[in-house]
Amino acid sequence: MPGLVWFRADLRISDNAALVDAARTHTDAVVALFIICADQWREHDWAPVRVSLLLRQLEVLSGELAELGIPLKILRCDRFDEVPNRLLGFARRNGCESLYFNVEHEWNERRRDISVRSCFEADGRKVSSYGDQLLLPPEAVTTRSGTPFKVFTPFARRFSEVMGETGVPRPKPAPSVRFRMKLDPDPVPERIKGFSDGGRSQAWSVGPKSARRRLDKFLGSRVVDYATDRDRPDTDGTSGLSPYLTLGILSPLQCLARAVKANQGVIRGGQEGLSVWINELIWREFYRHVLIAFPDVSRHRPLQAWTEGVLWREDPEGLQKWKDGKTGVPIVDAAMRQLSSTGWMHNRLRMISASFLCKHLLIDWRLGEAHFMRHLVDGDLASNNGGWQWSASTGTDASPYFRVFQPVSQSQRFDSSGDFIRSQMPELSNFDAKSIHLPHQYSSLEAQAAGYPLPMVDLKEGRRRAIEAFRIARER
Ligand SMILES: Cc1cc2nc3c(=O)[nH]c(=O)nc-3n(C[C@H](O)[C@H](O)[C@H](O)COP(=O)(O)OP(=O)(O)OC[C@H]3O[C@@H](n4cnc5c(N)ncnc54)[C@H](O)[C@@H]3O)c2cc1C
Repeated sequence: MPGLVWFRADLRISDNAALVDAARTHTDAVVALFIICADQWREHDWAPVRVSLLLRQLEVLSGELAELGIPLKILRCDRFDEVPNRLLGFARRNGCESLYFNVEHEWNERRRDISVRSCFEADGRKVSSYGDQLLLPPEAVTTRSGTPFKVFTPFARRFSEVMGETGVPRPKPAPSVRFRMKLDPDPVPERIKGFSDGGRSQAWSVGPKSARRRLDKFLGSRVVDYATDRDRPDTDGTSGLSPYLTLGILSPLQCLARAVKANQGVIRGGQEGLSVWINELIWREFYRHVLIAFPDVSRHRPLQAWTEGVLWREDPEGLQKWKDGKTGVPIVDAAMRQLSSTGWMHNRLRMISASFLCKHLLIDWRLGEAHFMRHLVDGDLASNNGGWQWSASTGTDASPYFRVFQPVSQSQRFDSSGDFIRSQMPELSNFDAKSIHLPHQYSSLEAQAAGYPLPMVDLKEGRRRAIEAFRIARER
């Protein structure tokens, strides 16, 4: 009887627990399946650039699986509700008694998987699931009283202790099997209606080799300066691996294991750049643990309940200016234009532009969160929600509400030459390193001639208004 492996956010054959176990258990045949759920993806705000990258990776995965003698079949369901019956129908038609998959932690995905499991079990079929999205299971990283952490620093400390005790496991190699393929693989669609990305995803090469090359190249050189360069949007100072992690082209364990090896076997300490980079992987892990412990974050709820009382401004025009990169604050505008033209935004800019929206403009963070998801190639519910709630002071580890990023100082500090702003905003190319951060203040005539708008909000007044709105909500 063939084993059925359902691929989701784990589009790789190495370090894929579900695939490895299926290939070990079923010595006659394994069938792989991917389900396209276009309407559900749209509801989840998946960006066209992300879907396009996914399809390109699926094509590579199909080829890799075919070499193992495993056909990749493709089903189409509009929404998750249809998945259990369609999947069961597929299993029945193909004589698959056992289903294997790696767990997804988002709310709708969890509900879908519970239904799939009960459908299969009611039909006398076996379901095996594996936790490959996490480096450690949630129950292994808790406070002394066994509750989940809500603050990053103690989480990271505990995570490192536990990982230090158990040791970083070795990623699983790809199965070394060669089945005789009884079914033909399905063709992978080149595009899906409604997800046209205008070729943006081509900036990312697909396939495990290029993902590993990117990881090795980063760990082999740029990581040395990561502690300082990671905050500079004008420098190629970070790994650029988030799209690969989001789609599961690389597993977090593959990244951690390589980084720890390069860091002489330690998670904390060692070479500064490596240790800071490992810390970022732990941030990713943290937001996943948060998503599991507090599933309401999947459903647009703030983690700090009192922040439900913040009176956000209704300002569709202001929101549109922010989306279009026309706020009159160059670093914010450059960030937003980078997002819309490439599907990518540097982490420092994500923090600056998010803070500007929910603090200076006092616009609901959920609108910004959705906009990011609709455009990011690495759009990931746990990290995106975590980043937005952090920026809006509504989440775990939230920056206190009265600490408001000053976008111009951030710009002067992290894009001191103005090179990044110039790279995104040709109309400001004639401004020098001093004036480019606030062009109207230094040369209003020139800024007007360039067609660049005045700042849409007085930064001091915006800050005061945000602090006041949060203070009122807190005292309610
Ligand atoms: C408002 C906001 C929204 C965000 N949305 C997303 C998102 O949708 N998807 C996403 O993957 N990341 C998101 N992040 C986190 C971070 O910006 C990106 O992970 C990072 O920019 C990816 O670039 P990199 O791969 O070069 O990162 P590197 O600096 O090389 O870091 C390595 C890896 O660590 C993880 N990581 C790094 N920083 C963070 C962080 N702050 N939080 C969680 N994980 C982190 C990522 O998986 C990243 O690939 C968001 C941050 C903010 C502030």
